[in-house]
Amino acid sequence: MGKDIFCRIIEGKAPGRIVYQDDEVVAFWDIHPKAPIHILIVPRKHITSVCELTEQDALILGKMALVADKIARQEGIFNTGFRLVLNCGPDSGMIVPHLHMHLLGGRRLGGIC
Ligand code: 5GP
Repeated sequence: MGKDIFCRIIEGKAPGRIVYQDDEVVAFWDIHPKAPIHILIVPRKHITSVCELTEQDALILGKMALVADKIARQEGIFNTGFRLVLNCGPDSGMIVPHLHMHLLGGRRLGGIC
């Protein structure tokens, strides 16, 4: 099976507006933003979703949250507030099978949570 689109963005084989990267995590703008700020924070390691997370990989979620905070400051939404979303499984509407955290902000966010 071919690599998913996020693996290809991480490897530089597909275009992505990257805003942050280190040896564990890459962050880039969502191609179809749902808010003025909509950035995806993604581990370099291929993990399909939070449902497939193992004890061994658990620390990556904390790292992703810290990177989200850093980007929120960078983008000027740390004080106004933001939302972090992790989708998992069919009812979530998840479409890309590579663990990712949505960072959304820049307007008052409605919705169910
Ligand atoms: P999911 O529903 O899987 O949690 O969200 C996946 C997100 O990835 C969606 O918000 C979608 O707009 C975004 N996305 C899908 N394909 C691409 C792409 O090729 N490039 C970028 N930057 N974002 C993508």
